[in-house]
Amino acid sequence: MALDMAPFWAELSPALARAQDDAARQAVVAMILRAFTAPMESLLSQTLCRPVALRRVEACRLTRGVRQYGACTIRRPDDGACRLAISRNLFFPGNERNLVDVVCHEMLHACLPAAEGHGPLFHKGLAALNRVYGLRIAVHTAESAIGEAAGFYRYKVTCGGCGHTFYYLRAGALVRHPRRYRCARCGENRFAVEKLR
Ligand SMILES: [Zn+2]
Ligand SMILES: [Zn+2]
Repeated sequence: MALDMAPFWAELSPALARAQDDAARQAVVAMILRAFTAPMESLLSQTLCRPVALRRVEACRLTRGVRQYGACTIRRPDDGACRLAISRNLFFPGNERNLVDVVCHEMLHACLPAAEGHGPLFHKGLAALNRVYGLRIAVHTAESAIGEAAGFYRYKVTCGGCGHTFYYLRAGALVRHPRRYRCARCGENRFAVEKLR
């Protein structure tokens, strides 16, 4: 009953490596939505013994969340649409699995009744998705999981204006002289430089 997701994973890594602005990040989220909608709907329909359909995703907003990595907003219980919010901090090479886990967590909310929250149906769906698709969706994603994926990089530079995050292997010019640069997204020149290891 599991669909073959290998082509999706092969496509995801290069797309994530190129995702340096919000439009590209939204395209990556759209790619995950496309890949997982049908598998999720069919698996949840079987698991919960009733037809399950993912709400139409009206918009996906990118946030600067570091503790909350994702959100799914359903305005009315009978609403057939929803809005997603995904943290920009998930978009860096090597973080494919955590990103997919967070987007799938929010997609799972978008499949279930608005009042379900992290209730029993959510837990049942989560367990089925993890088992069948080898995901590691959690109820609460730990900051440490994201930190581990970033372990490869030495420096993390975060824009103080828009929260855009850059990872670097070496102490390049931006890492050494952050005040000389402006963010390509928002024009701010306040950067926080963090040495990761
Ligand atoms: Zn949740
Ligand atoms: Zn910025």
